[in-house]
Amino acid sequence: MRAKDQKPNSLGLVIGKISDSFPVMAGPCSVEEEELLFQIAEGVAEAGAVVLRGGVFKPRSSPYSFQGIGSRGLRYMRAAAEKYNLLTVSEIMDADHLDLMEEYIDILQVGSRNMQNYGLLKKLGKSQRPILLKRGFAATYRELLLSAEYILSGGNSRVILCERGIRTFETHTRNTLDIAAVPALKELSSLPVIVDPSHGTGLRSMVLPMSLAAAAAGADGLMIEVHTDPDRSISDAGQTISLETFRELMHRVRTLRKALEAAPEATSLKK
Ligand code: PEP
Ligand code: MN
Repeated sequence: MRAKDQKPNSLGLVIGKISDSFPVMAGPCSVEEEELLFQIAEGVAEAGAVVLRGGVFKPRSSPYSFQGIGSRGLRYMRAAAEKYNLLTVSEIMDADHLDLMEEYIDILQVGSRNMQNYGLLKKLGKSQRPILLKRGFAATYRELLLSAEYILSGGNSRVILCERGIRTFETHTRNTLDIAAVPALKELSSLPVIVDPSHGTGLRSMVLPMSLAAAAAGADGLMIEVHTDPDRSISDAGQTISLETFRELMHRVRTLRKALEAAPEATSLKK
């Protein structure tokens, strides 16, 4: 099945098992200790997240940076998700990990650095799990959609696209979050599109406003890095928000979406 021929489906339909009209995935950048993950899971679930995120195999620019806690983190993810009635998403870095990841994780994430790892994408085309495909930080929309095609053409129709910022000349933010990707990718395909404002900006203060921008632009959901003590996050502390900020974010996103749903369609403006 080709991306442009896919029937319209909401993110919830692609993920399955959730009825939320705007699913939010939240959790730490990296899974750390078990008890900490449970506290984060409890907090994000209470605030309305439906998927727990957490990396256990981390793609780090430097081989000397923390690489993730590995497979024991998968067990923590499963246990925390079960306790708080969440689904799980975690990054698959290596095609050889597929069976292991499928055992513990509901949604397999392909990171920005692996968007063009065609061997991995082909293998994921044979997986029964939904695949969250992050945009490469120097990839065009077309390249992202062609990468999605590797998974779809392999027989796995459950692909979620994720805008997570691209590299531009701006250095204030870690990446430039391309909000235009949301309507563009929705025009070019029928796949659900989510936004990750955490990696998209790299700045804690910008996660909430850019979440609102994503929701207003028509995104199908969000992925957010959250920690009970953001400054102590092992990775990506600077872009990780507290549970308190996450609750505020969820409240404001809900309020915005309600207002947009209630607003009459200004069809005359479309001409
Ligand atoms: C992540 O979500 O954990 C991550 C590493 O993101 P990205 O691949 O977008 O850098
Ligand atoms: Mn991160």
